[in-house]
This record gives sequence, C-alpha cells and structure tokens, in this order.
Amino acid sequence: MSAYQIVDHSYDVVVVGAGGSGLRAAMGAAEHGLKTACVTKVFPTRSHTVAAQGGIAASLGNMGPDHWTWHMYDTVKGSDWLGDQDAIEYMCREAPAAVIELEHMGLPFSRTADGRIYQRAFGGMTQNMGEGPAAQRTCAAADRTGHAMLHTLYSQSLKHDTDFFIEYFALDLIMENGVCRGLVALNLDDGSIHRFRAQAVVIATGGYGRIYFSCTGAHTQTGDGNAMVLRAGLPLQDMEFVQFHPTGVYGVGVLITEGARGEGGYLTNAEGERFMERYAPHAKDLASRDVVSRAMAMEIREGRGVGEHKDHIFLHLDHLDPKILHQRLPGITETAKTFAGVDLTREPVPVVPTVHYNMGGIPTNFHGEVVTLKDGMPDAVVPGLFAVGEAACVSVHGANRLGSNSLIDLVVFGRAAGIRLNEVVKKGALPEALPKDAGELSLTRLDKYRYADGGSPTAEIRLEMQRTMQADCGVFRTDSTLGEGVAKIDQVFARMADVKTTDRSLIWNSDLMETLELDNLLSLAVVTMHCAANRKESRGAHMQEDYPDRDDKNWMRHTICWFDGWGGKAPANGVKIDYRPVHQFTLTDDIQTIPPKKRVY
Ligand SMILES: Cc1cc2nc3c(=O)[nH]c(=O)nc-3n(C[C@H](O)[C@H](O)[C@H](O)COP(=O)(O)OP(=O)(O)OC[C@H]3O[C@@H](n4cnc5c(N)ncnc54)[C@H](O)[C@@H]3O)c2cc1C
Repeated sequence: MSAYQIVDHSYDVVVVGAGGSGLRAAMGAAEHGLKTACVTKVFPTRSHTVAAQGGIAASLGNMGPDHWTWHMYDTVKGSDWLGDQDAIEYMCREAPAAVIELEHMGLPFSRTADGRIYQRAFGGMTQNMGEGPAAQRTCAAADRTGHAMLHTLYSQSLKHDTDFFIEYFALDLIMENGVCRGLVALNLDDGSIHRFRAQAVVIATGGYGRIYFSCTGAHTQTGDGNAMVLRAGLPLQDMEFVQFHPTGVYGVGVLITEGARGEGGYLTNAEGERFMERYAPHAKDLASRDVVSRAMAMEIREGRGVGEHKDHIFLHLDHLDPKILHQRLPGITETAKTFAGVDLTREPVPVVPTVHYNMGGIPTNFHGEVVTLKDGMPDAVVPGLFAVGEAACVSVHGANRLGSNSLIDLVVFGRAAGIRLNEVVKKGALPEALPKDAGELSLTRLDKYRYADGGSPTAEIRLEMQRTMQADCGVFRTDSTLGEGVAKIDQVFARMADVKTTDRSLIWNSDLMETLELDNLLSLAVVTMHCAANRKESRGAHMQEDYPDRDDKNWMRHTICWFDGWGGKAPANGVKIDYRPVHQFTLTDDIQTIPPKKRVY
C-alpha cells in the first residue's frame, strides 16, 4: 500500500460517473443536503450522454394525442415482455414531469410554432396501446439533445454544491460483509490513490459497447462499474441483450439518429426497394430497432446489400426539404459529410446495424437500489449500493430498448435515486470507518497490471475480444456460433495472464489505464457470451436462430450472472448463471399489467 500516496475522504454519497444519470443522481442527493462527491474519469460534459442525438421520450402530447399508459404499453412491448412492469409504469408516469423539470432548468428544447416543446416520431412509439398511428413523443433539442441535457445537468449539479473529482479513475468498490462502504479511485493527474468512505455509492458508469469491434459508443464505454460489481461478488442481469442500432455509418460506426427516420427518412436495398414494408407492414422504417436491424441483416445475407461488397444498406433523406434537414438534423448532416463523404440532401447515406446500447447491467429496483438474488429472495437490496443509467438494469428496457427511452431512464431513475438516498442516508453522520485493508485488493490488481510484462500487448487482446464478440454474438446467433464464441472468449480471457503493459505511467491516457479497462471489458464479454449461449429462445435483441420463437413458459425470466474467473481460474468455472422472475405487476391499482402477446409492428 505504501508505494502509493493515499488520500482519504468522507462523504454521505459518492456518485461514480457524470453522464446524464450520474449528474441527475448527484444533483438530487446534493439538493437534499447530502454531502455528495461525483467521481468521473472524463470531464462531465464529455460523457457519452453528450452524443445522444434524437431525443427524450415523454407523453407530453404537444404534437397530437398521447398518454403515459400508451408510452408504457409501447415500452413493455418493445422490451418483448422482459421489462419489469412496475419500473416501466414508474418511468412512463414520471416522464412528462421529468422533461418539464429539465425545461425549467434551462434545457434549450426545439419549439413548435406556438412555443411548446417540439416532439418527433421514434421507432415503436404509437398511439392508443399500439392500435393507433405513430405517436410524436420524443422531445428534442434539434439532433443534439444529449449535449443540451448534459450541460444543463452539469450546471445544476454545480449549483447544488456537488464536489467533483474529475479525471479520477474508479478502481473498485469497498465492500464489507455484503455492505458497500465506499470506493477506491486513482487520480489520473498525479497517480495518487483516493479512498472515499461513504454511506452510499451510486454507480453511473454507462455502457460497455466497447466489447464489440464496431459500436456507436465512445471509447470510454468500458463498463468499469459493471466489472467492479462482478469483482465485489455481486451479479449482473440480462447481459445477453445487446442492442444493434440500424443506422451506424458504414465502416466507421458513427451514429445517424433514429430521428432521421422519425423525420421521414427510409431504407432501401440494392434493388432500390423500401424493404421494411415487407418486414413491418404497419410501422415500416419505424419498427423497433431489433426488428429493423434484423431485416437489414437479412437483406444483406440474401444478397441484396448495397456497395461493392453488398454489405450495407442505404438511408435516404434526399427527398426531404433541405430547410427541415438544416433545422431538425443539422448534426447528422455534418456527420454524413465528415464520415461518409455524403451530401445527404442529394444522396443516400451508407449504413449498417452497429452495437449501440446494453439493455443488461446491474440489477436494481425502481428506487435505484442494487438488488441481488440471495437465499431464494430475488430482490434482496445490497445496503449502501445504488446504480443508475445504462450501467443499471432496472429493468425498463427488457430485451430491447426503444429509442429515446434511455435519456428518460437517466433522469427519472437518477432523480428516484436522489429521493431514496435522502431517505436512507443519515445526513452528516460519519460513515462507518473503513476496514483496515480497504483498497488493498485494488492496489494488488493495479500493480499486477502496471508491471505486467508478458507477450501479449493490450491492444492485441482487445482486438481479439472485439472480433470474437462481433463474429459470434451478433444480430443473429445460433448454438454453433455461441458454442464457438464461449470457447473463444474464454481463451481470450485467459490471455490476460500474458498481457504486456508498455507504459506504466499512472496518468491519463496511459497504456496502463487501457489495460485496466480491458480487464473490465473482458469479464463483461465473458458474461455476455455465456448468458447468450444459455438462453434457448429468441426475445428482443437476442435472436437465436435454432430457437426462433419467444418461449414465455420457460424463458420469461431475467438472467442473473456472477463471475469469479480471476486468479487463474478458468472463466467457464467462474461463471454462475441463475434466473429471477420478471415483475408482472404494477405499482398502483389504477392500471393493469400488459399481458404478453405476439410482437408485430
Ligand atoms: C451516439 C449515441 C446516441 C444516442 N442517442 C440517444 C437518444 O437520442 N436518446 C436516448 O434516449 N438515448 C440515446 N443514446 C443512449 C444514451 O445516450 C446512453 O444510454 C446514456 O447517455 C448513458 O448515460 P449514462 O449516464 O448511463 O452514462 P454515460 O453518459 O455513458 O457516462 C458515463 C460516466 O461514467 C464515468 N465513468 C466510467 N467509468 C469510470 C471509472 N472507472 N471511473 C470514474 N468514472 C467513470 C464517465 O467518466 C462518464 O462520466 C445514444 C447513445 C449513443 C452512443
């Protein structure tokens, strides 16, 4: 321990992550008078939330009829009945107030002619419990909604006296007898180690899209918080459900928002056919993302892809009024030009399904409290530990998330966590003293990778992991690809014993930091692949061709997975999988649950 300078801190609440969810939780805790720290590896306004384009869902009804129960219906159906209906009820009911709250905080939404918040159509969002036409439910600040939201929430967190620890890399939770007591982090400016003792820790570290080769997410999406949870001996939930967004720019992965189709854009194959009419006669190009991505992959597989290698699809916006494009989609006009060399007012954009969002994550209840499956209790709360945002699995997105439902998830559950923290944390009471050896395991791990001098460079192992996930755990999966995938990813994991860290410096952007991130990513890749191999049905984003139907009798269950493959243990032996029931109940008596039925668009 002594090789490092150790700095100790004491807080009521420590939030890890400064994306939309972390900032909303930090702001909430601070607003209630709790002494709050927010630890983040990148500057807050560089969190991936900044890249969200299309918007945030709430049934304001500014552009046509809408109701929060319709939003709830669409979300349950979008989740392919794997979402917890109590949490979905909570989110959809709270959504309009959450958006108005953002408006009052100063978020510069686009406006209708009469000054109300502008709302656009998004995939899977309908009127009248799926019976009516598309609902215009997605509130937008042009195509830079996340950017606007992050800046708004950052300024609000500062106003409420949150202490920020910026460019601090969280290494591990400090756990004692199943209770979370704090956090260990590395200051990327000077290499000092910071131990935070706290009454509660909130994990808000975002997704882990970077286990794949091609993804729309930032390079910082390495699932550090999720891996910290695994190392703490706690499980993750529904990790096999990975969303492919239909329109990543071909070859680079950068996103073209679904809002482009919401504004009237459509897809064509090599024959110039609007093929979505065949796959989703009703919703067409605005079917939910898993459906559109599968249709595109099918067209490509059957030889109707466009381009020299017939391996992508065209997205058309060239029929739309350039004025509308300029006003509503200025960012993606620029993206198409920069990344595809295309003037989208004149020609189509080459696109391909690209990894975009992790439905799975740290299981929580709708207060944001982390839960685990313990002694037959599926919802046992882990004292002192919360999770929000993409890192969490509350679960409102189930097997497939609807576009614009993540941003609303961030603020609704970020706020809910703040409210709960105010109930369970004793204001100003000194958190329990940390155990004497607190953080020692983290430092052992830090040293292990800092001085790793094997034969496999970090970047090489990472590439092998990403290619394996891309090839064997993609849009379509079979027993054979997943079987091979499990064997391969276990081998890649084992290669970590032979990793070589070239740059041992403890500061920002070093090879060491990438090695620590890779260690996190690898455990998540192993868990994702194993959970996918175990689920013998097709549901939402998990399309298993050997079991093409949804099987509610056997599989309407959340996957719960523990991993303990470190320390030389073969990963397969370190994986433990169990299942917990989906919440098929609502919070209030005034509404009914939505019974499962066939999911067509
Ligand atoms: C290109 C793109 C467009 C999108 N568009 C939309 C949209 O229009 N609508 C919608 O609803 N959703 C959209 N999404 C999804 C949505 O933006 C994300 O799911 C959401 O922003 C995630 O927010 P978050 O708060 O969970 O985490 P993030 O915004 O990803 O932030 C994670 C935070 O954790 C911190 N962190 C991570 N690891 C560590 C560590 N080890 N130590 C310290 N700090 C750490 C980071 O510094 C960062 O502050 C989009 C996603 C992408 C990639």
